[in-house]
Amino acid sequence: MPVRPIRLKLIASLLAVLPLYSLASEWSYSGNNAPDHWAMLDTSGSFATCAKGTAQSPIDIPRASTTHINAASASLNINYQRSPLNLVNNGHSIQANVAGDSNLQFQGKTYKLLQFHFHSPSEHLFNGKRFPMEMHWVNQAPDGSLLVVAAMIESGKNNAQLEHIWSKMLPQKKGTHVAISQAQAPDLSMILPSASKHFFYKGSLTTPPCTEGVQWVLFEQPLQLSADQIGAFQHIFADNHRPAAAINQREIDED
Ligand SMILES: [Zn+2]
Repeated sequence: MPVRPIRLKLIASLLAVLPLYSLASEWSYSGNNAPDHWAMLDTSGSFATCAKGTAQSPIDIPRASTTHINAASASLNINYQRSPLNLVNNGHSIQANVAGDSNLQFQGKTYKLLQFHFHSPSEHLFNGKRFPMEMHWVNQAPDGSLLVVAAMIESGKNNAQLEHIWSKMLPQKKGTHVAISQAQAPDLSMILPSASKHFFYKGSLTTPPCTEGVQWVLFEQPLQLSADQIGAFQHIFADNHRPAAAINQREIDED
């Protein structure tokens, strides 16, 4: 069967865009650059931990086998506040870079809040249950160590604190930055539940290079976003979650 001119034209235009894709070995959540292939995407080997790591995140929190510890030894003290934000669609999520002095103390160490971002569906599971979304707050200590606070998000009431960010997210192309002034920014102290239990474990970044040594603090009580708010995020990122990793020998604590 002869190749029709229209098909030749299509092939020619595909060839024209192919080099763009083959140059960009950027990781993603689907197709050839999906989580299963992350370790192979960087030829220098810098993503190797994504496949070889034994303390990776996220995980499925097995509720029955968590080890109880007392609240004093966990000693989590969160001091988040209202401050200017710089929202960016980085192609993997919507991330809010945080200015100001929001910080937290955990086990005697102070971590500064750098940014928060979102995943859909949730990356962590509670006893096999996955949530529509998950919020990550990335904090860093002066020695460079990272602590990520995670809150699951369920469908419910409209989240008034996040509403302004949500409305600003609507211009949603990769690379888009939106500055939010302090006056317009949400009060970050009002977003996380004030009386929730927490789970604690040592894991990794859930994105390449999947670096380990990250302290995770998971809120047991989920946040609520309206179905419309969740839908607005999923319209931009239909699926930006990494599948759960093996727990291996790790201990999971709760307060
Ligand atoms: Zn994350």
